[in-house]
Amino acid sequence: MLIKNINPYKVVCGTNFMPTAIEKLDFRVNQEWADCARENPWLDFVPAFAKDSKGQEFMRGVGRSVAYKIKTEDAKGKQTYECGQCGGEVMATNVAHPILDSPICCSGSGRVRNEQVPYCPKCETRPRGSGEPIIL
Ligand SMILES: [Zn+2]
Repeated sequence: MLIKNINPYKVVCGTNFMPTAIEKLDFRVNQEWADCARENPWLDFVPAFAKDSKGQEFMRGVGRSVAYKIKTEDAKGKQTYECGQCGGEVMATNVAHPILDSPICCSGSGRVRNEQVPYCPKCETRPRGSGEPIIL
């Protein structure tokens, strides 16, 4: 199967250890993202959010083990992150999802849908530039 099965309500715990209590936080996918992930099962990155006892917010991708600390959020909701594991800057990379809309299996018009996927260059491998295909 080409399409990953994303269960938006379940955050899979990785085998990686975390040096802080971040891993003990209860990461949850909000309704907006749960709906988005249901409609777009090809998404590489679906964020889950948690808050620690001091009110600091964290974000972690569903199925990932590294959490990011939310540093700032502007009026438009654009956030910047710091790696919860190494404290380094979290980067974003573009993942292109080919759109397969032809009746012939596995061929498409060449259109892609781009997704910005965050990752820590120190703790995580850079996501592949080509993502799951979108089958229409
Ligand atoms: Zn890191």
